Amino acid sequence: MGKEVTIVGAGLVGSLWSVYMSKAGYKVKIFERRPDIRQANISAGKSINLALSDRGWKALDKVGVGDQIREIAIPMTGRIMHDLEGKLTAQPYGKEGQAIYSVSRGGVNAKMMEIAENIGGAEIFYNEHCVDVDLENGITYLKNSETGIETQVKSDLIFACDGAFSAVRYKSMQKLDKFNYEQRFIEDGYRELLLPANEDGSYKLDKNALHIWPRGRFMLIALANENGSFTCTLFMPSKGENSFEALTSKEKVNIFFKETFPDFYEMMPSVGAAWGDHPLSSLAIIRCYPWTSGKVALMGDAAHATVPFYGQGMNSGFEDCSVLAEIMDKHGDDWDAIFEEYQILRKPDGDAIQDLSIHNYHVMRDYVGDPKFLLQKKIEAKINAAHPDKWMPLYSQVTFSHIRYSEALKVGMRQEAIMKEVMDKPNIESIWDSTEIEEEILERL
Ligand SMILES: Cc1cc2nc3c(=O)[nH]c(=O)nc-3n(C[C@H](O)[C@H](O)[C@H](O)COP(=O)(O)OP(=O)(O)OC[C@H]3O[C@@H](n4cnc5c(N)ncnc54)[C@H](O)[C@@H]3O)c2cc1C
Repeated sequence: MGKEVTIVGAGLVGSLWSVYMSKAGYKVKIFERRPDIRQANISAGKSINLALSDRGWKALDKVGVGDQIREIAIPMTGRIMHDLEGKLTAQPYGKEGQAIYSVSRGGVNAKMMEIAENIGGAEIFYNEHCVDVDLENGITYLKNSETGIETQVKSDLIFACDGAFSAVRYKSMQKLDKFNYEQRFIEDGYRELLLPANEDGSYKLDKNALHIWPRGRFMLIALANENGSFTCTLFMPSKGENSFEALTSKEKVNIFFKETFPDFYEMMPSVGAAWGDHPLSSLAIIRCYPWTSGKVALMGDAAHATVPFYGQGMNSGFEDCSVLAEIMDKHGDDWDAIFEEYQILRKPDGDAIQDLSIHNYHVMRDYVGDPKFLLQKKIEAKINAAHPDKWMPLYSQVTFSHIRYSEALKVGMRQEAIMKEVMDKPNIESIWDSTEIEEEILERL
């Protein structure tokens, strides 16, 4: 062994992958364009907190770092929907004992860097901006943003974990013949707001749920932070009647929240004043192929950035790590074989989680507050409880299982078609619990 590995980007995926590679005996150097977030007072990037679920936990546990992240994770056992009158409807995410976890991006990133250095033995270099890569010769070209000094690092392998707008991909792979690339911004953007804790430090909402204010074309969500606050995110079209473009003053923001999210406004009458604390950001899906070339592989958002509506971007990036490690177990040190199997196996799953993320956007925005949708979920939960081997709801397949995303998408769409016909029955509210409905669903599977 003793091979040298360069990782570009000490974000969520880069820092976890460095632990995997160090543990496998490689000598790892990570180059990160930002300063060390543990020392500098800067944010760790987009979104303050994230939902971590089973795929992420599996990847963390596989290299023995899950327990350190569990210390900073808040379980969320279900969604709580807030309607216009402030009425709350709770819906569990899965079965008893199943939860997704709210974690701070900065907290997880800092902990992962610490683990990469201390357990993994990786060296992290900060303010090092990757400006180009030589794919065939494994050379990473860097420029230090503080000193302006340019350096080159040669290594046996390079892993591009430099996020959605990957410099490695842009500067090298996108210039290759037959490299396919698609970048699609959705029309909605997002803005974060911090709902502070009560004066005594307690939470203003149930911390063990993901809160949603679904309003058709737009929605507000809230996830708890460790300090009693909630990070809230408003997803909304950039232009049009109900849009970010229309919210041009503090007063307009206050009126909008008072009319649209009245119970939220009561908790945070200062929302107008806090509006400018976080920037308005865009959301994009990025697809590309191949994911590997020469000595270089793309991982995480660099390979398959998605919109955040299934809470799977980080989880899928972490799953890249566990899957790639399994492929390494098969092929040892044969990196041509490893890279080939990685991209063939993983690309359909990257595409599928992107399709699933768009699908869940519509579910969260348009349906989660709808009584018919809640009844459908109740029927699916009943079928799942009686026939767990035959029916696992799509959300559970994605969030609480390790079934391939591409398989989950296929099965989930078949289930959707069945449930659509069942829900279209005029008297479904009175017969949903009958054996007739159960048998009909099972027959159609
Ligand atoms: C609003 C929002 C909410 C989200 N919520 C969730 C969620 O609930 N659950 C979930 O699983 N995912 C969620 N995601 C997705 C998640 O944030 C990403 O999938 C995840 O951060 C990808 O990790 P990464 O390491 O691939 O990229 P990043 O986290 O973007 O890290 C890339 C790193 O590379 C560095 N870098 C970039 N360019 C260079 C360069 N040229 N040279 C050197 N270093 C460079 C960056 O500074 C950064 O440290 C959300 C995303 C958004 C926007």
